[in-house]
Amino acid sequence: MSRRARRGVARVAAPIAAVALLAAACGSDDDHGGAIGTAPTTAGSTTATGVGPSTTGGGGVGPAATRGDGGSDRPGVATSVSPATSVRTDGAPGTLAALILRPAESREIVVDVAAQDGAAPREATLDHVTAVLRSVTGKAVSVERRGLPGGAQPWDRASLDAARGAGDEQRRGGAAVVRLLFVHGTYGGDDSILGVAYRGDTAAVFVDGVDAAGGLLTGSGPLEDAVSLHEVGHLLGLVDLVVPTGRADPSHPGHSTNRESVMYWAVESSLVGDVLSGGPPRDLDAADRADLERIRRG
Ligand SMILES: [Zn+2]
Repeated sequence: MSRRARRGVARVAAPIAAVALLAAACGSDDDHGGAIGTAPTTAGSTTATGVGPSTTGGGGVGPAATRGDGGSDRPGVATSVSPATSVRTDGAPGTLAALILRPAESREIVVDVAAQDGAAPREATLDHVTAVLRSVTGKAVSVERRGLPGGAQPWDRASLDAARGAGDEQRRGGAAVVRLLFVHGTYGGDDSILGVAYRGDTAAVFVDGVDAAGGLLTGSGPLEDAVSLHEVGHLLGLVDLVVPTGRADPSHPGHSTNRESVMYWAVESSLVGDVLSGGPPRDLDAADRADLERIRRG
């Protein structure tokens, strides 16, 4: 695998980077509400919480479903192949959490990995992300890789969408697609942002920032792993994007207050080295997993 050139550390120290990130993530044209707070952001929108699919009410305590074994709303059982079986992907992170997690909503997970030259994620990163997805969904998870043209640039939602490519819809009962973009450059010129989950099925990791910040920690490999899983966690609805548990960090909406959780806010910020000495957390904690299980059970 090609190795990325390590860059010097030249970052904008922006304590609200994670907030800006999630705000940006939620700056979609869909119908989600809930203010993210009063911290200034670099993005135009400030919505974040309470954005989950309408079906995630809650707290089911029934027996755990075993697998995607033909739930009641699988296509084919429904009346016909109709728009009702498709799901829009352009909502905020978390809006596809149920599609990804629930046995009846998708039978398997495909991780679509698109990377620019020299930006491809390490195998260890993909192995870890897919292992976690397998663990929390109970589904088969596979990876599909493709290249992306171009180089470093200040990305925005439109350019990330262009990199993401076509495929506005996902279909219930099929494979749920989780899309990860690994690119050079920054999000909106802010090189403190290491990753962003910006729509229901897609997140981006900014590898130059990861390399720079990772060099201050234990190397960029563990940080790449942490940032990637952190963004996938947002796509799965963490923290409190789908189930309003009240445990999200009030200063960093959408994030865990637990410094031992990969969903801690600093994980996706270049401040990670300042805030988390000893390396970033790389796993979900028990509360994160409990939330995902709650969504999965419906
Ligand atoms: Zn985050």
